[in-house]
Amino acid sequence: MDFDLSSEQRMLRELARNFTVKEIVPAAPAHDREQKFPHELQRAALKLGLLHLTIPAEFGGGGLGGFEQAIVTEELAWGCTGIGGALGLNAVPADALMVAGTDKQKKEYLGRLTDGQFGCYAATEPGAGSDVAGLTTRAVRQKDKYVLNGTKIWISNATVSSFAVVFAKTDPAAGHRGLSAFLVEMNYPGVSVGKKLEKLGQRASPAAELNLIDVEVPATNLLGAEGEGFLVAMKVFDRSRPMIAASAVGLIRRCLDEALAYARERRTMGRPIIEHQAIGHKLADMAMRYEAARLLTLKAAWQLDHGQRNTMAAAYAKAFAADTATWAASEAVQIFGGMGYSTEFPVEKLYRDAKVLQIYEGTSEIQRNIIVRELAR
Ligand SMILES: Cc1cc2nc3c(=O)[nH]c(=O)nc-3n(C[C@H](O)[C@H](O)[C@H](O)COP(=O)(O)OP(=O)(O)OC[C@H]3O[C@@H](n4cnc5c(N)ncnc54)[C@H](O)[C@@H]3O)c2cc1C
Repeated sequence: MDFDLSSEQRMLRELARNFTVKEIVPAAPAHDREQKFPHELQRAALKLGLLHLTIPAEFGGGGLGGFEQAIVTEELAWGCTGIGGALGLNAVPADALMVAGTDKQKKEYLGRLTDGQFGCYAATEPGAGSDVAGLTTRAVRQKDKYVLNGTKIWISNATVSSFAVVFAKTDPAAGHRGLSAFLVEMNYPGVSVGKKLEKLGQRASPAAELNLIDVEVPATNLLGAEGEGFLVAMKVFDRSRPMIAASAVGLIRRCLDEALAYARERRTMGRPIIEHQAIGHKLADMAMRYEAARLLTLKAAWQLDHGQRNTMAAAYAKAFAADTATWAASEAVQIFGGMGYSTEFPVEKLYRDAKVLQIYEGTSEIQRNIIVRELAR
């Protein structure tokens, strides 16, 4: 077992770290305040080769593994999980294509992503989030096409995307086996992006409703076989959850860095607050849990890269890192005292940004359901 990064991985981390410090950190407060999409940062990150790392080189991607993507995701998230999320979200439709796409679909759609377009991933509905098999968007086959009707909600990057991976029921009586995935162009008649949702945190990353009314989708846009949508979604989770965990790891490290610097400077009762045991122990716990979250995350990504089933590791990493991030952000605010509650210091934003990590890509409760299901197998 080797815990060292290779020299190439260290170089990639440095590249991402420099980009984060120079470009993301100064831009983050305004993007958060104004809920502004980071278009310029996307172009700059694309140029540097920091995006689409796991897409094969033949489709314009980095041709690297989930391990490298986790390293870069942690760095970008250290700067801002909202901006990191907006830039990284293409990985989710890309994962669906890599899991189930035909060569032709991969060439076209992965090529479009690496050329700078955005794609989104539309599973959640007003009536079904955790209950993926319970979604009700309908896809009815008519000769060489499908007709889709339904409403999706919380679709990240829908406002800037040129296509969506949409999950719909092709056989409502077949439970989770009745679900299929489709590649839907955002300019198909009947597709409309509804209202952008006002969010507590990660405000640089937009989420919106996606409405589908009698949308005609060519049968060639079916992603995977009919009825395989649930399987596709579960395989995508195994790839995407370690990246959400990596994002949480970046946020935990930022909490630690900010809180540590403040605790060294701020003095009460004649000494820096780091010398009060109650504060020192919070920092010690933060450092310890950062390390644990990072190792779980890298293991889940490593298993993925080595072709091993990583469902359990991905659930461990996602739940532990997300829960730790919300805890660490709360403790960071506490260490800052009153100033932690002020928008002039970064920790209040970390506190707002952290919460959603326990919700999207499967809630912390759902991760525990997966873990206990795997234990019982
Ligand atoms: C900012 C943001 C971005 C998002 N981006 C996307 C996106 O790009 N694409 C997309 O498809 N979706 C996206 N989502 C949706 C997200 O994945 C869902 O919100 C999430 O899966 C939870 O579903 P829900 O909101 O319907 O909550 P529900 O499923 O209604 O859950 C409500 C509560 O009940 C708990 N619960 C539910 N079922 C169980 C159970 N069986 N056992 C124990 N507890 C349970 C949950 O953990 C939660 O605490 C996004 C959400 C947010 C907030």
